[in-house]
Amino acid sequence: MQSRFQDNFVAPNLSDPRLASKRAYRMMIDGRSVDAQSGETITRESPGHRGKVIGEWPAGGAADAELAITAARRAFDTGARPRMSGAERSTILHAVVAKILDHVDELGLIECLETGKPLEQAKGEIGYCADLWSYAAGMSRGLEGATHNNIGENRLGLVLREPAGVVGIITPWNFPFIIVSERVPRAPGAGCTVVVKPSEFTSGTTIRLAELALEAGLPAGVFNVITGYGPAVGQVLAEDPRVDVLAFTGSVRVGTALAGLAAAGVKRVGSELGGKGPQIVFADADLDAAADGIAYGVYHNAGQCCISGSRLLVENSIRQPLLERVLELSRKLPFGDPLGAATRFGAMVSRNHLEKVASYVAAGVNEGAELLLGGDMVDAKSGNFFLLPRFSTRCAPTWPSPERKSSGRFWPPLVSTRPRKLSLWPMARHLASRPASGRADLENAIQTTRKLRAGRCWINSVIDGTPELPIGGYKKSGTGRELRRFGFDEYSQFKGLHMILGRGQPRFQHS
Ligand code: NAD
Repeated sequence: MQSRFQDNFVAPNLSDPRLASKRAYRMMIDGRSVDAQSGETITRESPGHRGKVIGEWPAGGAADAELAITAARRAFDTGARPRMSGAERSTILHAVVAKILDHVDELGLIECLETGKPLEQAKGEIGYCADLWSYAAGMSRGLEGATHNNIGENRLGLVLREPAGVVGIITPWNFPFIIVSERVPRAPGAGCTVVVKPSEFTSGTTIRLAELALEAGLPAGVFNVITGYGPAVGQVLAEDPRVDVLAFTGSVRVGTALAGLAAAGVKRVGSELGGKGPQIVFADADLDAAADGIAYGVYHNAGQCCISGSRLLVENSIRQPLLERVLELSRKLPFGDPLGAATRFGAMVSRNHLEKVASYVAAGVNEGAELLLGGDMVDAKSGNFFLLPRFSTRCAPTWPSPERKSSGRFWPPLVSTRPRKLSLWPMARHLASRPASGRADLENAIQTTRKLRAGRCWINSVIDGTPELPIGGYKKSGTGRELRRFGFDEYSQFKGLHMILGRGQPRFQHS
């Protein structure tokens, strides 16, 4: 480890009492807690605390997934939830909000230990999820269709909103509780039932959420959870014709494969796939604020965010002073023990992922990148998965090479390029050089944003979120939209009802 980092490395405390016990979980099928039929389990070691097993859940398989789908199908076809009024649906979702708020400490700790993210961040995320559920609870009461009272004197058209059916939800490991909370409340909020398959690395909080939802009054069979490895469980959700909608969040590779399987059954698919993007800084920026945003944008969640800003596009005139500020912040970033009170940058999710990222950085350096900061996998030999904050420059705009992009970009390195070849840059520079007006900064930013083919943009901010604004991707970042009302639409069907008032015109002449 380079000496200049020793002050801000928070060494893991393996005797922390919060690591003392392993939590054992069971899957949730039809309101009952069950083991896998095979009896096999998956154990999870804290990625930030070598040798500490902190969770164990069933390694479910296809037969378990089929049972869960049967339960969800029955709950949809004959159960109470789809038939409840909006008010009743909403009341139960509000009760789930109260349960989440009562369990912030417990859920935050589980999330921290399974993902490796800092504890305070994890608790903040649980609080945010209560808000996601709360917004969904309110909106589920106000879901409406439409009327068309202008289609002719004796005609009336109604658009009936109906629940879409059984929804299969597959989630990744980086934000397990946030991603399940973006999707689940909207599906039962619209009257659907769900089968959720969380990541095999981070299943604890999803199981606890299903248990809390049951306690809060969500009927049995509405919220089922199957844990296990992806191909064994996830594929069943994509292929089984009893599942009406598949909502997948994860890698482009798996997402496109599952979408292909679902397409064979003409199944609706919503997908949130690889993301990431540039952080663009114009010459008139407040450099301290910009540096802070850049560092947060790339290092939050150890860079394991689909919305991280991993590329930096800076106007030449401010490039040097801005890079110095970002470097300074990067050097000071407290990283290490996820349970450490000061830690802002925790562990990578697994050794495999850590080594993959490190190998991409090494390959980038071989290809000519200048590494300004960072170098080693800290503490990896002892089994803790920490990576120094990294910052490279002088990379070709295409680095890392395209075949490494899909998973390799799920990482903390920040790359600053001189993007002469990027089509965005001439446009951004052109806008930035327009004569100043009273609203010049915002105007440039908004005009640039309008040109971006991206589902989420920020101005003077980064990695911000609220249930009022949609999330979803352009191009290979996915299909469909979550949050806001769009999230409910993903889990609704819209039926056109045509009515003739009185006696309609004969369609065929009667002789
Ligand atoms: P992943 O695709 O490996 O796994 C995601 C989920 O799919 C997991 O539950 C996994 O068990 C399951 N899965 C894996 N293989 C499967 C298969 N063959 N059939 C069915 N299911 C399978 O992704 P990950 O490594 O868990 O997460 C990281 C990825 O998620 C990154 O690429 C990141 O960009 C993406 N992500 C996107 C968003 C977004 O909103 N766009 C949010 C978070 C993460």
